Amino acid sequence: MSRQPSPISTHLKPFLQRNAPVLLGLLLVWNMLLAIALVGRFQPRVPPPDQAEEPASSPTADSLAQPFLNALPVAGREGGNVLDNRRYTFRLPMPQEAVAAIWHNGRPILTQIADTAGTYKFDLRLRHGENELAVSVWRKDQSLIYRDRWNISITSALVEKLSRSMDRGSRHHPEMALTFDGGSVAEGAVEILNILWSRGITTTLFLTGQFIEKNPRLVLQMLADGHEIANHTYNHPHLTTFADNGLPETLEGADRDFLQGQLFRTDSLFRALTGIPMQPYWRAPYGEINPDILVWAAEAGYRHIHWSPGMDTMDWVSDSTSTLFRSPEAIAERLWEHARKKDGLNGGIVLMHLGTTRTGKPVYTILDALIRDLQKAGYRPVKISQMLENGTFPG
Ligand SMILES: [Zn+2]
Repeated sequence: MSRQPSPISTHLKPFLQRNAPVLLGLLLVWNMLLAIALVGRFQPRVPPPDQAEEPASSPTADSLAQPFLNALPVAGREGGNVLDNRRYTFRLPMPQEAVAAIWHNGRPILTQIADTAGTYKFDLRLRHGENELAVSVWRKDQSLIYRDRWNISITSALVEKLSRSMDRGSRHHPEMALTFDGGSVAEGAVEILNILWSRGITTTLFLTGQFIEKNPRLVLQMLADGHEIANHTYNHPHLTTFADNGLPETLEGADRDFLQGQLFRTDSLFRALTGIPMQPYWRAPYGEINPDILVWAAEAGYRHIHWSPGMDTMDWVSDSTSTLFRSPEAIAERLWEHARKKDGLNGGIVLMHLGTTRTGKPVYTILDALIRDLQKAGYRPVKISQMLENGTFPG
């Protein structure tokens, strides 16, 4: 039994055939209107999330690194975040008397109330890494009009590079760095500077903001002697839970704003005194770092310089009954033990301190002989920047 065409298709078929061009045109117009309505609903200038992955339309690492690089010299002078320069404008259509709220990475950043219907602009700073944006628009009676959410991934080549902590230079070159940290105490600083000067050694000194406040003359002396000064935060706070549980988890309250505030405050003090910025090196108090902390500091223009494993001289231990306590001679001997290992002290970053609360013989009493013997053994004590300039720093 053959199928009979239904009455509808009998009439519809000739109709469709006759009017095909008109119908196709109408369909096209309808699709265009639909597309315009969807796109116009919420139109960011940055690519939406699905496009953000594509290199053709997403901000490339280079295009982001360039303005970031340009921003570096003003960082700190304004006391603000260097990424403030990377602002994006978003457009948000809103009916009259609507209320919009916008969240960035879970944090409310803006509430907009529309006096008249229209498209409202708002500026937003996007960060290296994942940016989650959420928007909700309500009517006056609190009923929801629309809600949207995107994830935009931004990669800054510079932030990525700065967020790599360094703890050793090249193992193939006899360069090493005798670095000193300066915190709450400066006893010993004058003697140490004199020894470095008389031996013709320049190095990298990591100073807290409090050290700079208390010892402005010493800071100027350090610069006059040719040393480079790096950021050691303002008041040497713990940043992770390491001291409590041995884990590198960020301590509560030690968030991005806190750390960048510590770095900027110290930088402002240093700039006010010397006229030069502290970037690009910093060292975390107690060496407490994790990937988040490294990125937050990198956003402020700083790369972390750790000490090489086993090259903390422990000169800060003042209690002679502690198992960690080492006499000045024992400290020198430890370094020579390292020197006898496979790569010796090549690329080594040694940690010592400008201040001491030791009551016995200060550690700096061995410094002159130590530098002399290191030089005799062929080592060149240098600044961190020299290790980088000479291309002997990996990464
Ligand atoms: Zn320290």
